[in-house]
Amino acid sequence: MNIGQRLLKIYKRLLDYFGTQNWWPGETEEEIIIGAILTQNTNWRNVEKAISNLKNNGVLSIREIDKTDISTIAELIKPSGYFNQKAKKLKKLSSFLMEHYDGDMDKLKSVSTERLRSELLSINGIGAETADSILLYALERPVFVVDAYSFRLAIRHNLIWEDATYEELQELFTQNLPRDSSLYNEYHALIVQLGKSFCKRKNPICSSCPLNFDLH
Ligand code: SF4
Repeated sequence: MNIGQRLLKIYKRLLDYFGTQNWWPGETEEEIIIGAILTQNTNWRNVEKAISNLKNNGVLSIREIDKTDISTIAELIKPSGYFNQKAKKLKKLSSFLMEHYDGDMDKLKSVSTERLRSELLSINGIGAETADSILLYALERPVFVVDAYSFRLAIRHNLIWEDATYEELQELFTQNLPRDSSLYNEYHALIVQLGKSFCKRKNPICSSCPLNFDLH
């Protein structure tokens, strides 16, 4: 079985076991973009509280975040943790999107994935995982999102070497799977679920894991 077939088999097992994950929970592209910053280093429940504070105060948009002062944003997103840093990142991202795209999601959608990715990565505080989450989940671009959970799975199943980089692991998925944003959307969400349920950092529960068929 080649890598592509193995990755698809793993995907099917995860989907059969966990079912569809319905990511990303967000009503608009802007909400997803904002959520991609808020979700750094915290769980989704805390992000929801921060998003609901922004919404209730009429600040859940790129335009409004750009207009609102940083201390107000920090206060509203407090439940998501690291709120001063995240407020700074939200302000930087919003100011960039206002300056270059007038905060207009349709204008953003007309730009190539490569250009958008490099623009996002040029904004201070936006790393590869956040940029790729925005591209995949807000803009439906076929970009595979890599995170600590996918490294854990790939290393433990000998799909990649221990000191692989983000880009190397991303290529493992994108070069061996069809270029399909719906597949990448679901696959990443399922890997997160796997990491939380079975493939934990310490003491993975291999004996009852749906992927134990693939352990060598
Ligand atoms: S828990 Fe074990 S079987 Fe499951 S994905 Fe992790 S290493 Fe593989």
